[in-house]
Amino acid sequence: PDEAELEALQHADVARLLPAPTGESDKYRRGVVGIAAGSARYPGAAVLAVSGALRGGAGAVRYVGPAGQAVVARFPETLVSDAGPARAGRVQAWVVGPGAGDDAATVAEVLAADVPVLVDADGLRLAERDAVRGRTAPTLMTPHAGEAAALLGVRREEVEGARLAAVRELAAAYRATVLLKGSTTLVADCAGGAVRVNPTGTSWLATAGSGDVLSGLAGSLLAAGLSAPDAGSTAAYLHGLAGRFAAQGAPAGAHDVAERIPQAWRDVR
Ligand code: AMP
Ligand code: MG
Repeated sequence: PDEAELEALQHADVARLLPAPTGESDKYRRGVVGIAAGSARYPGAAVLAVSGALRGGAGAVRYVGPAGQAVVARFPETLVSDAGPARAGRVQAWVVGPGAGDDAATVAEVLAADVPVLVDADGLRLAERDAVRGRTAPTLMTPHAGEAAALLGVRREEVEGARLAAVRELAAAYRATVLLKGSTTLVADCAGGAVRVNPTGTSWLATAGSGDVLSGLAGSLLAAGLSAPDAGSTAAYLHGLAGRFAAQGAPAGAHDVAERIPQAWRDVR
């Protein structure tokens, strides 16, 4: 591929970007991340997205959706709201889509919010292109190759065979930052320029729920104030390291990966 168009993430860049609280911080200044995910069928996606978000540097995680009980049972620090995203209270960035099923109304409501939004999984299928293109706040989309292919209207193999072109094309088409997941993770901004490539991934991350953890983590970094390209690439870097720490040559579940995010964070610092 065109190596010159790719920019590998460096440990030092990631270290500089990690948010850290100061004496003036409170939970709202650190940022509140809203998670609109999960369904009766896939409550675990909500739990995993929240697990990533809690380790991403935001001051609080707010959850909206049908899996509130499962989320609070596992993570009692989560703020659970009964109202939809528009009336959930203060949120500095949203994550929408993991395990969301067919809840198109929630996706539309989140996209209408004037704060950064991360769209993943079912949310990618449910998001109207014009609703994304019309946003004034940043949008970060996180498809794997199959989801990217569906968005572009091509076959999965076509994306796999031209990942750099695909991630750029999607970013331009949606006026968004796009993080294309897979054996290497690419992050492209709609403004063009170099595409960032994450060097830390491990194929042990190819496991159910792993992407949900990444979404929560990246959403939390957005809420903490990172730009969409910085939040996406920093999250991919930490997620890859956490996957390595969790696996160490043996299979690990997505929840194990989430639990290793703090270790990845300390490793980068
Ligand atoms: P998802 O497909 O949404 O569950 O996300 C899967 C996660 O695992 C993403 O962060 C991918 O980048 C990562 N991943 C999947 N397959 C591989 C692989 N072969 N090597 C490295 N990372 C992978
Ligand atoms: Mg996924």
